[in-house]
Amino acid sequence: MTEAKLISVLNEENLSHLSKTYVPSRLLLGPGPSNAHPEVLNALSLNPIGHLDEAYIELMSDVQKLLRYTWQCNNRLTLPMSGTGSAAMEASIANFIEEGEKILIAKKGYFGDRLVDMANRYKADVSVIEKPWGESFSYEEIKYEIETKKPAIFAIVHAETSSGVLQPLDGIGDVCRKNNCLFLVDAVTSLGSLELLIDKWKIDLAYSCSQKGLSCPPGLSPFTMNERAEEKLSSRKTKVPNWYLDLSLLNKYWGSDRVYHHTAPVNMNFAIREGLRLIANEGLENVWNRHNTNAKKLWNGLETLGMELHVSKDYRLPTLTTVKIPPAVDGDGFRNHLLRNFGIEIGNGLGELSGKVWRIGLMGFNSSEENVDRLLNLFDTELKKYSIFESSTF
Ligand SMILES: *Cc1c(COP(=O)(O)O)cnc(C)c1O
Repeated sequence: MTEAKLISVLNEENLSHLSKTYVPSRLLLGPGPSNAHPEVLNALSLNPIGHLDEAYIELMSDVQKLLRYTWQCNNRLTLPMSGTGSAAMEASIANFIEEGEKILIAKKGYFGDRLVDMANRYKADVSVIEKPWGESFSYEEIKYEIETKKPAIFAIVHAETSSGVLQPLDGIGDVCRKNNCLFLVDAVTSLGSLELLIDKWKIDLAYSCSQKGLSCPPGLSPFTMNERAEEKLSSRKTKVPNWYLDLSLLNKYWGSDRVYHHTAPVNMNFAIREGLRLIANEGLENVWNRHNTNAKKLWNGLETLGMELHVSKDYRLPTLTTVKIPPAVDGDGFRNHLLRNFGIEIGNGLGELSGKVWRIGLMGFNSSEENVDRLLNLFDTELKKYSIFESSTF
């Protein structure tokens, strides 16, 4: 581009007169991101230091220790990957699948679909078992499918954010071990907010994100893998077909060698250290209890107002509630009203639940009694204004 052209582009858009970056204040009670804790924001705003600086290397090992605590595991290879939850999701597929290898995916919502898409891109031999959005799989169903299909990997989403279902994982780890299969769990909406015991439940590899249960902005994806997964990785016949997410290379930076792979997003690592420190400070069991208690308060409050929940009590997800939009209500109108006039975000249904449910998230820092009360009050006073019929009740 010539200089004259550059200047005219600038003038046209008046870019030199833009105001300083401004972001409205929001309470994020949707499917994510959730609000970051103020202490996390303080950590995030510190000046970067070098990613091989002694002080940074010490911070990395704090992050790893805190992650092992939060995952409840002793896995050596436990690290936050650069990128949002989908990055570690892709790493879990890219590193452990070789062309033609069998993966069994239990799909009961949107994120199961994403795993299927990724596994196909890495040329796995993909088998899928399916449940309607709003239901979970039983132990017997999973056991039968693993025993008959004999996959190399079995993958399932623990907390399905699209439907609001919490999948019980008890006993599946043993079935996987008996059938020489790796157990892969998507814990994006459960890590740091719901009971999750990686070692005890014999989960071989798992991934999550920073912006849901960990009270951080989006940008990192915690990942962990045990020795069974390490063995599988080291017995690959071909190179991992994704350089950025190659765990054998990342291991050289996050393991003892500290060899440069890519520049770590250092500020996001400051932030996640702080988010995880806050969890350790509160105590993991207290964190889980807080999420359960506040979710129950929300469920009871919504039902008292005459609203119906989409998922049965037996496997309802405390971090994300799907509530049916009453037939007489303009769902988008109400959602936009909450955002524009009260600065509160709740989510629309995803995929086949779009327009049928709202999605209410109570994750990390945002899971508080005060937030539940605030939202219930608004459902009580504002929802009637969004009735399509004049004086309908629901
Ligand atoms: C949010 C989410 C993801 C994707 O994470 P991103 O951070 O959006 O990349 C994957 N799985 C589940 C269950 C999620 O809720």
